[in-house]
Amino acid sequence: MKRFRPLSPRSWFRPDSAGAPTAPTRADAAIQMYHCSKSYLAGSFALRDVSLEFGRGEFAFLTGPSGAGKTTLLELLFGAEHPSEGQIVVLGRNISRLGAAAVPRLRRRIGVVFQDFKLLPRLTVEENVALALDVLGTPRREARAKVFATLKQLGLQHRRYHHPLSLSGGEQQRVAIARALVNEPEILLADEPTGNLDADLTLEIMDLVVSTALRGTTVLVATHDLSLVDRYGKRSVRLEAGRVTEDHRPAGGVA
Ligand code: ADP
Repeated sequence: MKRFRPLSPRSWFRPDSAGAPTAPTRADAAIQMYHCSKSYLAGSFALRDVSLEFGRGEFAFLTGPSGAGKTTLLELLFGAEHPSEGQIVVLGRNISRLGAAAVPRLRRRIGVVFQDFKLLPRLTVEENVALALDVLGTPRREARAKVFATLKQLGLQHRRYHHPLSLSGGEQQRVAIARALVNEPEILLADEPTGNLDADLTLEIMDLVVSTALRGTTVLVATHDLSLVDRYGKRSVRLEAGRVTEDHRPAGGVA
């Protein structure tokens, strides 16, 4: 992996060229990407020269057709992949420079939701959600309280002893969201979270995800469903062939 000089985020993150941030940098940025490219195969780019900034508590959609680079962008943000070029600062940490031990520490501050839920079928709802706290070593009593509060908040308390496969798709996604939120993450990344759900459940899940940002979490939702973007009137960043082709902020502000 490329090593970078130890610069403070503020000193290198400056809008200065094509692909640069479309808004002034903010002291309360949760995510800063600076000229990031990702190439899985020599000569082809999943992301190309992407510079973006997302504030704390901001909500944004990532849109674009299949293959545009949405998943890759999210993977870079939680350290599942590393940029081939450029730098990324997440919650004040330059993730290109993080050592092996620091990546899991940063991930604890980030919740992730996927299209296919990724729940463990042999565990109950409660156990699936608790797992996120087990791996952090949260004391049992505290973990139980947090799991119960989160399930209640998402209207799942009556399902806590059920197994995921006995639940509807919408309920399974709510469990996945509970698992992502139980540790009160500062960032929530959702990759096509409603891709497997029908229209009614899509809105139910999206309402939940949007309300998460209102509580101060930075939320990025990758979707190819432009009707969601129209409906919620939030910032939307469009990717095409790995490049940012549009960064639309609704009139009246962000978040
Ligand atoms: P999206 O989420 O918008 O559908 P992706 O980030 O999944 O886009 O993919 C962007 C491009 O990167 C595509 O051309 C895809 O084939 C390629 N890609 C994604 N992941 C890998 C990988 N692990 N290895 C090789 N190519 C990949």
